[in-house]
Amino acid sequence: MTNSQAGRDLDTSRPHSARMYDYYLGGKDHFEVDKKAAAAVADAYPGIFVCARENRAFMHRATRVLAREYGIRQWLDIGTGIPTEPNLHQVAQAVAPEARIVYADNDPLVLKYAERLMRSTPEGRTTYIEADVNEPEALLEAVEASGVLDFDRPVALSLNALMHFVTDEQDPYGIVARLLAPFPAGSALALSHCTPDFDPDTWEKVTAIYTDAGTPVQFRAQKDVARFFDGLELIEPGVCLGHRWRPDTRTDEGPKPTDAEVSLWAGVGIKR
Ligand code: SAH
Repeated sequence: MTNSQAGRDLDTSRPHSARMYDYYLGGKDHFEVDKKAAAAVADAYPGIFVCARENRAFMHRATRVLAREYGIRQWLDIGTGIPTEPNLHQVAQAVAPEARIVYADNDPLVLKYAERLMRSTPEGRTTYIEADVNEPEALLEAVEASGVLDFDRPVALSLNALMHFVTDEQDPYGIVARLLAPFPAGSALALSHCTPDFDPDTWEKVTAIYTDAGTPVQFRAQKDVARFFDGLELIEPGVCLGHRWRPDTRTDEGPKPTDAEVSLWAGVGIKR
């Protein structure tokens, strides 16, 4: 655990995205204020629970594909969220026990539970840093200082349900390019991002709820999500809805999610 902000107080007077997301996933690590805002989102957009679940499922599949088919053994996961089983390292280390993972988030609550992210296999390593994606060089310095990742070998940058919290004025495309810059060919970007494409009115309401809560958001159209992969080789099936990205055989017999419920673009690209 590094970073000067590690001792920062938890602000429980306002809802926070990480804790709202914990509510969507059925977790218990949120406060009343988060539950209220998250319930308002769910009122406007009942699909949010499906979206959150499918987002997690995409992360699991993308991690497995990168480990199995692309030989990735190192991950930098930014905007990790409150730990939810299985966490990325558990998925990666199930394929490759020697996998190394650095987690980063800017919510002090995630730091509080970071111990759950540190239960690595003995062969691998994991760590957690408190850092802001809007300061990519400082974040990368903290990653390097942790000694967990070897910058001379491929790294998968995992940005799931994060970049819609970075508005265009904050230069989201530049940030992703700067984060990928130090990593060699063979490195990867796995990214998911909520979209208003299937139900613009609903997403306008969702945007207003987050903005009122003090969290600026920018949900993007497919072509604007695809731009994050500029300069990378997108692997099949490209940028598609989360549940369509290399689906596993579903074990549940329940109803298949609709596109509007999922409302999440997802993709994986490789640096050549
Ligand atoms: N990646 C996880 C959690 C997504 S929720 C998953 O896909 O399941 C979004 C997370 O991004 C929250 O934990 C929130 O605290 C974090 N986040 C939001 N803005 C951030 C920023 N500027 N820097 C780092 N993390 C941020």
